[in-house]
Amino acid sequence: MVKDYNIRKTSGQCSICEVQLAPGTEFTATVSEGPDELIRHDYCDDCSESLDEATSAAVLCKWRTVVPHPEEKKKLLVSNELLVNLFERLSEARDPAKINFRYVLALVLMRKKLLIYDRMTTNDEGQEVWSMHLKASDPGDTHLVIDPKLTEDQITEVSNSLGEIMEGDFE
Ligand SMILES: [Zn+2]
Repeated sequence: MVKDYNIRKTSGQCSICEVQLAPGTEFTATVSEGPDELIRHDYCDDCSESLDEATSAAVLCKWRTVVPHPEEKKKLLVSNELLVNLFERLSEARDPAKINFRYVLALVLMRKKLLIYDRMTTNDEGQEVWSMHLKASDPGDTHLVIDPKLTEDQITEVSNSLGEIMEGDFE
């Protein structure tokens, strides 16, 4: 099967100095935009302070987190604000992987009642586009979400990937 999304997920070590991050250690996680993928990076505290501007510019979201203990249950560590922010920052994304991600993020935000569906429209390429607005903002402040017509299985797969890079359970 051809993968229609692409992410590189966390490795449990610092992306710069490659130090192994032990359970219980606090660190900085980022998700940045590659040409056709989202890339997760983890940074130890020393390295996160020395991130250069070029690296920071490509970062879509950044948060503090902690390495879970192996026996710990996966829980959602990222805030709603961070999810909304990622959703907004992916608005110009045009490659299929990011469109799929943004669509699944929209589903997550709808379930959390943070994003409201207004109506269906069609774009110049004939794709179905959902016209939506964030609950916290003006209803006239429209967000357009391309519906990539994913199957249930694909939605589950993208949700799982989203969970892996954002450290949450989006099922
Ligand atoms: Zn490091």
